[in-house]
Amino acid sequence: MILVHLLLALASQEDALEWNRRGIEHLKKEDHAAAVEAFEKARALRPDDATIRKNLAVARFRVGEKALAAKEAEKAVASFRSAADLDPDHPAYRVSLAVAERAAGRGEAARGILEETLSKFPREASAFELLGVLHHEEGRLEEAAAAFEKALALEPTRPRLREALDRVKRDLELEAGYSREGSIHFDFRYDVERADLVKGAGILAGMLDEAWESVALELGEYPTERMQVVLYAGQTFREVTGTGEYVGGLFDGRIRVPVGSLFRQRESLPPVLRHEVTHAFLHRMAPGLPTWAGEGLAQRLEGRDARMADGAVRAAREALLEPEQLRGSFLDLKEPARIRLAYAMGLSFLDWLYRQRGREAVMRYVRGIRAEGEEKAFAGAFGFSFADGLALWREELGP
Ligand SMILES: [Zn+2]
Repeated sequence: MILVHLLLALASQEDALEWNRRGIEHLKKEDHAAAVEAFEKARALRPDDATIRKNLAVARFRVGEKALAAKEAEKAVASFRSAADLDPDHPAYRVSLAVAERAAGRGEAARGILEETLSKFPREASAFELLGVLHHEEGRLEEAAAAFEKALALEPTRPRLREALDRVKRDLELEAGYSREGSIHFDFRYDVERADLVKGAGILAGMLDEAWESVALELGEYPTERMQVVLYAGQTFREVTGTGEYVGGLFDGRIRVPVGSLFRQRESLPPVLRHEVTHAFLHRMAPGLPTWAGEGLAQRLEGRDARMADGAVRAAREALLEPEQLRGSFLDLKEPARIRLAYAMGLSFLDWLYRQRGREAVMRYVRGIRAEGEEKAFAGAFGFSFADGLALWREELGP
């Protein structure tokens, strides 16, 4: 009887090693899902084997990376969490988990994970870097600068880190002389020298909360975290953001808006605020949303006329932008005329989707992205692929 047990134990040990070997083969071929399966079988046979456990963590981590690249944020979260649980000594798994949580629109959860990671691994530059980004977005400028400085001290050659620190420092310097006010949903800052803004702070707070309400109603989302707004003189805005004359506002984690004169802009400011507030909502709901959809929705909520956009698309005729150009940043298009066309295409196409499939379908798409990835969410919500949708839309728009 003892012999039988011994033989069975030996057999399972061999099986475990065989599954482990196969898992490594799958990893080499970048078939990460098959690798996970093989290592799981190995682990079921030898649950106490540290090597098998760590190999499974590597495979789950790779699955997470692939999911993150495909914008399947929830799958990435689950995979990275599992990798971090299997191999707690590997801070990179935890930092990736924080990245994925942020991609799923949960900045607070990401921050918690990073702080916990840093308490165990105080030399993890990537954790300080991401923490800096989150602090900056939430308006905690001193904390952001401190986090970036720590990251830089640990890893001076880390790409783009110096620029991130410089941006926070520039904001810090500029906003040292700014007043900080709050409305129901926003923290907003403006130059105390600006008499119109000082006098009009109450009006501004009302405008912001009204923008929040109309966006919340349309998107069916009611975020609890406060949103950050900075108001600038026109020239300062262009210096800070590096944008041209035609840009009316910007969202880069914080809403930045130029205001020449609040009293002269009583009519023109609310649409700008609705546009940028839409971006702030979408940043939380669907960070993986492609640019055309984000700009389409932002313009729709701004109240921009979709018929004008249709006209601009018809006028461009055959010179329309490629599907890939509509997904990426419009600023990459460089020429102002191409950028304007991209905005018009985004609005016109989004409006067509509303007419074809209704608001519910558009919202299913937006909400579906973090679970299913963008392509699947699109096809699932509308019943055709992005490329087919574009072709149909263009055809129905007419010559
Ligand atoms: Zn925009």
